[in-house]
Amino acid sequence: MAVEQTLSIIKPDGVQKNLVGEIYGRFEKSGLQLVAARMMHLTSEQAQSFYAVHAERPFFSDLVSYMTSGPVIVQVLEGDDAIVRNREIMGATNPAEADPATIRADFGESIEENIVHGSDGVESAIAEIAFFFGDDGVCPRTR
Ligand code: UDP
Ligand code: MG
Repeated sequence: MAVEQTLSIIKPDGVQKNLVGEIYGRFEKSGLQLVAARMMHLTSEQAQSFYAVHAERPFFSDLVSYMTSGPVIVQVLEGDDAIVRNREIMGATNPAEADPATIRADFGESIEENIVHGSDGVESAIAEIAFFFGDDGVCPRTR
């Protein structure tokens, strides 16, 4: 096991449904530690840039509209195998296919409006954390 950091977003539907505390509780109960957090309303440019890997996909413009439809909460989670563990807590992209008791199974409306984002690998985690928190926006736990 390796200590990792991963980038998580509570998407506009998750904020709208007042699920921030519920979702943070799931992270904390699983042993993941919050080391950075901020609320923001993404611009179209920010959403397009963040999801640039999906730029050619048919759902891209709807994804950008969804991600800019309301404020999001962005956080960095740290812990053993944090990247895979966060993906396990989130559940599959399509809530209808997500394992029971995952965030997306419990709260997601559709394959588009699925409540949370999580980095999918070490390289994307590093890039996504830098995208939102730069070089010095993460607060190491000193206790
Ligand atoms: N998405 C969508 N339609 C699709 C696939 C994905 O609207 O057919 C949206 C959905 O919000 C998803 C995001 O695009 O979370 C990024 O897709 P990805 O395949 O990276 O899924 P994730 O890593 O979020 O599980
Ligand atoms: Mg992804």
